[in-house]
Amino acid sequence: MLPGSRRLRVSGDSLSVRELLAVVESGVFYWRQRLDESEGVAREQAAAAIKELSRILDSLAQQLVAGREMVQITSRLPSTRVAPLACAICGRGNRANAKYCIACGSPMRLGEKSAPRPPPKLSLAVAARTDVGMARKVNEDTCYSGEFTTADGKIGTLLLVADGMGGHAAGEVASQLASETIKAELKESLSAGVPATDEDWHALMRQAALKANERIYTQSRAMGGRGMGTTLTMALVAGRRTHIAHVGDSRAYLINPGGVGEGGPWTQLTADHSLVARLVDIGQLTPEQARVHPQRNMIYRSLGTDPTVDVDTLSQALAPGDVLLLCSDGLEIHVEDAELSQIVIDEPNEAHACERLIALANQRGGKDNISVIIARMRT
Ligand code: CA
Repeated sequence: MLPGSRRLRVSGDSLSVRELLAVVESGVFYWRQRLDESEGVAREQAAAAIKELSRILDSLAQQLVAGREMVQITSRLPSTRVAPLACAICGRGNRANAKYCIACGSPMRLGEKSAPRPPPKLSLAVAARTDVGMARKVNEDTCYSGEFTTADGKIGTLLLVADGMGGHAAGEVASQLASETIKAELKESLSAGVPATDEDWHALMRQAALKANERIYTQSRAMGGRGMGTTLTMALVAGRRTHIAHVGDSRAYLINPGGVGEGGPWTQLTADHSLVARLVDIGQLTPEQARVHPQRNMIYRSLGTDPTVDVDTLSQALAPGDVLLLCSDGLEIHVEDAELSQIVIDEPNEAHACERLIALANQRGGKDNISVIIARMRT
């Protein structure tokens, strides 16, 4: 987590070397402070982190020497979705040449012979679990799932994962504050009106996230502590659509046995705001190296560390059989995307699927707190 107004924009297919360098520099600054303030093992850890970051700094400086201000993104994390053709019945994106919808089976080009089928009735089955893991003493994650009612009487679902950070249980305070503030903000704004467009949903969620940011930032200063913050990944499911707001390195995945990603049943909907994700982007690390990298915890966007924050938003159509999975990084460091999606597909009971995922992460060391929410569109 990096206090200080570092901005890193990832747009199009390139990344500014200078912006990335500034992020690494603030990481060095953070660890230098830790070096001054701590003793024993913590000092050794800080020294090792500075060494690792210096290596990254050096290789970025070499890029500048070679005249590269912008580096081309080679292998983006997450994989971008290649499903441009929307099904007229269920809304699922399909490949450009699809004959039948991958999700609901309706013909993609409705001819004279086939009358359009009415869309199947859907309901959302949700389970959420959080676990302290095997290595930590406290669980600083907060996860929440619950229903909300809009001003027109329709019922939707809010899913939220917040992964708190900061010493002396400050992370716990930050993630709970995020969850409570967002629930209260959304309840108020959704009872006052119904968002008409995706952009309206995004504005509403962004506003709630900014309010949470403000409250955590104020609380952090009041406690005299530095560096209290939290990630936030939340999804509002309204009818056949979900709207997502995201800051940090918790994740939202879309999973469907029929396939939603580049040749796989899963796609990561959110981009991690972490240093290692950007190093993967520019080809300095492989995704496998990123998962075990010593600086994998370094995130450059979080709620509560700065007076304001950039919030990513997106919307996604949900088709029959689709699963939305939200998780904190405690799951993803131990369980690969392919395994994760396979368990969700194999296990029809959402609560059991959450428990199996947590058990697997714990079996492999449970280095961090683990939170998982699974929401499946059932027919
Ligand atoms: Ca974590």
